[in-house]
Amino acid sequence: MKMPTKFKTYCPFCRKHEVHEVEKVKKGKNRYMNWIDRQKARRGKVGNMGKFSKVPGGDKPTKRINVRYRCTVCGKAHLREGFRAGKFELTE
Ligand SMILES: [Zn+2]
Repeated sequence: MKMPTKFKTYCPFCRKHEVHEVEKVKKGKNRYMNWIDRQKARRGKVGNMGKFSKVPGGDKPTKRINVRYRCTVCGKAHLREGFRAGKFELTE
C-alpha cells in the first residue's frame, strides 16, 4: 500500500481539517504480561503444558501497520487504528 507523506485530514486538536504528516510508529513491546502469559507462568515448565505445548503457528501474510498523523498547524500527533498491509510505502 502506498500512502502520501502529507495529506489533509481531520485534526482532533484543531477540530478541523489540516495538513498532516504521516509517521510510521515502531511497535513497542508490551511491558505488561497478558492473561495468557500469566496462565503460562502459573503452569510451570515441567511436563505437558497442555495447550502451551503446541508449536506456535506461522506468521500472518500481512502485518498490521501503525501510523501517526502529525498536524502541521498545531504540531500535535494523533493515532488511528492500524490497518493490515503486506507492503507499506510512503510516497511524496
Ligand atoms: Zn492540529
